[in-house]
Amino acid sequence: MTHASTIQKIFKDIGVDYRDSTDSNALAVHTPIDGSLLGRVKCTNQSEVAAAIARAHLRAQSWRNEPAPRRGAAIRAFGEIVRQHKSSLAQLITLEAGKITQESLGEVQEVIDICEFALGLSRQLYGLTIASERADHKLLETWHPLGVVGIVSAFNFPMAVFAWNAALAMVCGNTLVWKPSEKTPLTAMALNGLLLKACASEGFEPLGMSELLIGDREVGATMVAHPNVKLVSATGSTAMGREVGIACASHFKRSLLELGGNNSAIVTPTANLDLVVRGVVFSAAGTAGQRCTTLRRLFVHRSIYSKLVPALVRAYAGLPIGDPRDPGTLVGPLIDERSFAAMQTALEQVKQSGATVHFGAREIVLGESSFYVRPSIVEMPEQSGPMLKETFAPILYVTPYDDFEQAIEMNNEASHGLSSAVFTQDLREAEIFTSARGSDCGIANVNIGTSGAEIGGAFGGEKETGGGRESGSDAWKAYMRRATNTINYGSSLPLAQGIKFEI
Ligand code: NAD
Repeated sequence: MTHASTIQKIFKDIGVDYRDSTDSNALAVHTPIDGSLLGRVKCTNQSEVAAAIARAHLRAQSWRNEPAPRRGAAIRAFGEIVRQHKSSLAQLITLEAGKITQESLGEVQEVIDICEFALGLSRQLYGLTIASERADHKLLETWHPLGVVGIVSAFNFPMAVFAWNAALAMVCGNTLVWKPSEKTPLTAMALNGLLLKACASEGFEPLGMSELLIGDREVGATMVAHPNVKLVSATGSTAMGREVGIACASHFKRSLLELGGNNSAIVTPTANLDLVVRGVVFSAAGTAGQRCTTLRRLFVHRSIYSKLVPALVRAYAGLPIGDPRDPGTLVGPLIDERSFAAMQTALEQVKQSGATVHFGAREIVLGESSFYVRPSIVEMPEQSGPMLKETFAPILYVTPYDDFEQAIEMNNEASHGLSSAVFTQDLREAEIFTSARGSDCGIANVNIGTSGAEIGGAFGGEKETGGGRESGSDAWKAYMRRATNTINYGSSLPLAQGIKFEI
């Protein structure tokens, strides 16, 4: 069976319509597994973008009137249908994004988890009652839907990022327009198709509930600029976020930016080194280094450096690399040649600066075009050069440190501020790292790696990571507008601050 026919079968199994496009401008989708063609998808043209936003805008006018727990019922049905098709959806992620099967299953589980969270949330969208300074007055804060929420997503979490946004935005009373990565449109078509089916199964009109826009950055930029898109939640590189952030600001439009990361961990002398090796290898080499939370910089206390680094090198030497569908594989392919080239350029640059580079070369080639590398460890005497930028590939820079405060400074020196971790058994170090003078990142962990967040907490990062928060906690507030209401239930009109204005 070819990959293309597997795609056809997956769509048939999940009951979502899909046919290869014969359009001359169709997007050709290739699998990173061996470079073969998965399918051809029709792109959305400019007038179709406008029509899709108009449908979502119209649908939002009635969706906002549904009681939130009823909206939650649509999301519950979405979670159930995704659970029913979990293995087919994971297979699709593996084919299109190249993730190993275990991680693809984990990503589909995230979709299910956020639906459960959003269902509970649909009965917990609360405002505030505040003491008024005036007699017979009530002061309130109430929350209301925004309208159409535009979602831009990256290739490396082709389902979870959409679901994090969609589940919350929809229970908050918004409709959706989604511009997925041009590298993973099939996954988007499947997931969006299931969302619409779930809506219909609960008796809700699916038209306009979640509109899919297929295409490149131009399609995304058109959506971002449209006046009826009230919030843009964009996940991807910092370069993309800079463009989207500026475009939104120029229209005074809300944006929620989830951008790149250059995440680090500190290993202190008291750390449990067995745990460190497992935590570091999963965070740095897992997903072939293609997570926003991938561990990219490791600061190791000089007293344990010569013990830990050889242990990491040994672990890296034994990592099974290959076809992500093989249950024994832990490291699958890079997404494309561009990603491979960026990795090689960074490694070349650090080699010239005298750093010691372990691994990083192309390991195998499957089919016509594929990029499988052995994840690299680079020993850097000090933090410099490419270490201070995000190369979206599996390179782990390791640098010794002498003083804990100096290690925190190096953690915070990066322009990004997504995820960070400390490995220590010393309570003082753990507390300092997670305190106001510790890590400046949105995520600061103790004795676990930088990747693999749970959906219950708010997810996001500071500085060039964009400042947005998604997923759990009170992240839902980003998808609603707040109104302050003062209600006078008396028969006089006292003014605030005691102002007298008699007529
Ligand atoms: P990318 O920036 O190349 O593309 C992301 C999306 O943005 C795509 O859908 C693309 O078409 C769209 N886009 C690009 N320019 C645009 C514009 N001007 N207007 C509207 N849309 C535009 O990112 P990628 O290569 O797909 O993903 C990898 C990057 O994403 C890494 O930097 C990674 O750290 C980051 N990422 C961040 C998070 C997070 O939650 N912080 C999660 C996943 C990935």
